[in-house]
Amino acid sequence: MKKTISNMEKKENITIIIPKGATTDVENGLVYLTELLTNEIFDGESQGGGLGGEYGYGVRYENDTFMMHPFCWCYEGDCKWCYGGEPNFIYKPTNTRIWWYKWIGRGQEQKGKLPKDWLEKCVKSVAKLNQ
Ligand SMILES: [Zn+2]
Repeated sequence: MKKTISNMEKKENITIIIPKGATTDVENGLVYLTELLTNEIFDGESQGGGLGGEYGYGVRYENDTFMMHPFCWCYEGDCKWCYGGEPNFIYKPTNTRIWWYKWIGRGQEQKGKLPKDWLEKCVKSVAKLNQ
């Protein structure tokens, strides 16, 4: 039998890009949450990465605790996730809303305060689904 190396995994260089401006706890938390959702909800399948980093854009997800919606890029009509309007993140217990432009942290605006345990609550709300 002929020995083949075709099954060898092709090694690729992976460059980790931290989203610009992702330096605050909230931004880091949103990136963390995106990574968690990608792994837990989308089975690790990338929901779109690029210059903003693999988890720098957010994913489309909603449960009773929070809602996340990435920037859209369709530029159709008056799309509220392209031209502003709809927030990219809502923390439901306090109705705290966050907007970003294209990637998390960029031109980020926040209405309302996030409690200290917001990320923990969000993480737990996702984990609950998988129990
Ligand atoms: Zn759009």
